[in-house]
Amino acid sequence: VSEYLRPASLDEAVAARVAHPDWTVLAGGTDLLVAANQRPEPPGFIDLFGLAEIRGIEAGGDGAIAIGAATTYKELLESPLIAEELPMLRASAREIGALQIQARGTVGGNLGTSSPVGDTLPVWLALDAEIELVGPGGSRRVAYDQYCTGYRRTALAADELIARVHLPPRPAGLRQYWRKMGTRRAQSISKVMVAATAVVSDQVIERIRIGLGAVADRPIRARDAEAAAVGNTPADAEPLVRAAIRRQVIPIDDLRSTAAYRLTAAENVVARFLLSLTHLR
Ligand SMILES: Cc1cc2nc3c(=O)[nH]c(=O)nc-3n(C[C@H](O)[C@H](O)[C@H](O)COP(=O)(O)OP(=O)(O)OC[C@H]3O[C@@H](n4cnc5c(N)ncnc54)[C@H](O)[C@@H]3O)c2cc1C
Repeated sequence: VSEYLRPASLDEAVAARVAHPDWTVLAGGTDLLVAANQRPEPPGFIDLFGLAEIRGIEAGGDGAIAIGAATTYKELLESPLIAEELPMLRASAREIGALQIQARGTVGGNLGTSSPVGDTLPVWLALDAEIELVGPGGSRRVAYDQYCTGYRRTALAADELIARVHLPPRPAGLRQYWRKMGTRRAQSISKVMVAATAVVSDQVIERIRIGLGAVADRPIRARDAEAAAVGNTPADAEPLVRAAIRRQVIPIDDLRSTAAYRLTAAENVVARFLLSLTHLR
């Protein structure tokens, strides 16, 4: 039978991580338990679920927002601040699993698993998020695109824990968009995900971020498409952005979808986002 520890503070959790590098860090367990039968039982668990220090959503005075790693999707969905300020994150949380998964699954668990189909992950790209990691030497912040280093690989060191996601203040007039395409309308695993933000001024795209999920070994930013869009109206940008996505994105072919479908779908969803920018708000 495995040992079990439920730390009362983040310091205690880090100390346990350092003392027991072979123990498993547990949050909601919605990824870990699915894989449990295929892996040897770990000697112990460090359970972070509900750890107050890294749970919840905090607004800084300047408009920055910090989300604790142990925050569940249910908590995101119940937060007026998230509804008001981060509708794209709310949209992603709403489509993760069903209510049971939303009640247990955490933001930190999505980052810990770091699957290319993790639904919150492209959102972090589109919002310039930084991931706060804590270890025995203190805490450090890593930009999300430096955090995910490959297929289910991250910058998290063996003696570190994920503490929070930090989101910088959003520019005035930021439009937010999130869309997941799967095989069905609910409880599906993504074939393509698009998380995008933009600022449009005098009908011209001034700033844009396009995060794509499920099209590569990790969530990616469509930087060529972003560069093609800036300085153009959404309508003028559309063919340039489509071409840039075709150049930059080389999707995966797997049992959930073909590469050709993923590419066309990614292109079409991004085009739909551009179209949405022409609507007055
Ligand atoms: C039926 C079902 C449907 C699902 N649907 C979706 C979906 O639609 N979209 C989606 O993206 N995912 C989905 N998932 C996957 C899963 O729910 C999410 O990835 C969830 O966010 C995982 O969070 P958790 O707290 O349960 O993580 P856990 O299973 O507890 O942990 C996952 C990994 O993260 C590590 N970890 C967790 N917290 C920390 C931390 N603070 N520091 C360091 N490491 C940490 C763990 O060690 C482990 O490696 C689904 C899962 C199931 C079973």
